Amino acid sequence: MATRRLYYDDAFEKEFTARVVYCEVLPPDVNSGITGTVWKLILDRTAFYPTSGGQPNDLGKIGDANVLDVRDEGEEISHVVDRRPADPEVNGCINWPRRFDHMQQHTGQHLLSAMFQERFGLPTVSFHLGSEMCTIDLRGPEPTEEILEGGERAANQIIFEDRPVTVRYGTADELSQLGVRKEVEREGILRAIEIEGADLQPCGGTHVKRTGQIGLVLVRRCTKVRQDWRVEFVCGRRAERAARGDFQWLRQTAEKLSCAPEDVVSAASRALAERDANSKNFRAVVQRLAEAEATLALQSAPPGTNGFRVVSRVFEGVPADYLGFFGTAFAKSEKAIAILAAAEGGHLLFAQHPSAGKDMNALLKQVVEKVGGKGGGTRDFARGRLNDGSHAEKAVSLARELLPVSAPEK
Ligand SMILES: [Zn+2]
Repeated sequence: MATRRLYYDDAFEKEFTARVVYCEVLPPDVNSGITGTVWKLILDRTAFYPTSGGQPNDLGKIGDANVLDVRDEGEEISHVVDRRPADPEVNGCINWPRRFDHMQQHTGQHLLSAMFQERFGLPTVSFHLGSEMCTIDLRGPEPTEEILEGGERAANQIIFEDRPVTVRYGTADELSQLGVRKEVEREGILRAIEIEGADLQPCGGTHVKRTGQIGLVLVRRCTKVRQDWRVEFVCGRRAERAARGDFQWLRQTAEKLSCAPEDVVSAASRALAERDANSKNFRAVVQRLAEAEATLALQSAPPGTNGFRVVSRVFEGVPADYLGFFGTAFAKSEKAIAILAAAEGGHLLFAQHPSAGKDMNALLKQVVEKVGGKGGGTRDFARGRLNDGSHAEKAVSLARELLPVSAPEK
């Protein structure tokens, strides 16, 4: 027996009475998150909207039972409930704030899609109503900022005009004569939604009565998804929340930058330019300091047996770059070898003058294999990183043991 869909005639019906025509325990279904005992309930009539056409199902109560899911099963609508009703006559009550939010988003989508189609020739190929954000996928060339703003403004204009939103019935032929663009496969009498002077779409969903009830449409991001353009938007209370959230972020950012909200962009640009200049200076200073320290180390490391000069050191409080500058400067001298580590990040750097004739890459690989880490390089210059920075001392002494030279060391 087909369930009578009360929301077809009146989407504002929040409470209803009905008769139970079927009730049976459902097997557990891990995929839909149902693990406890639940019942499938079919009524002779219902105001509960099942998931379909991009709009999520309603929630609410049937008698004492909580409605966990509502499914469209062709002729019938089934309700998944957490207890069996005691009486065959039941009262149903839908979670109205949730439903009204869906109606605002869904009617807003009709309107926004119509504006993108009519004004900019961009058809909507899919719609998703999420718990936070709604999206439509537009097909065609990339929508510019002007198009996104233009679609939003045109939709809001029709919202401000508070035009009626009505249900019309007719065959596919009759509806196409009235201006329905979408090809419809279904036979028989179809249901269509008309936004006066703006849109006529076949749709089985729930909608507000007048465009004013949509409240506002806010278009958010647009990103490419496969061949289409996914436009995020929110309507009604969600638009209010989004605008409030945007302003809070803006105000917090302005506070951090010590400026007025309207000056955030220029203040952020200034702060970034300053940061870039500082980091350039910092790097130059680090290089000079590392080179000076390498020169000192060379002076205090006299050549040992066979003329090798070896320095092995664990630095504290220096950036990773410091090792590179130090090692490069040190290894400019004949037969010089630098075995370096940075304590904080666990960075390693082994460098030699080619005349030293060892293999820094092989040495580094041996060390990281034993101590834990990764890295590599060339015979003369190899970098790596330890998994655990606190093993820097161990890595340097191990490298020193493995290095077959004997030289006095500083
Ligand atoms: Zn609709």
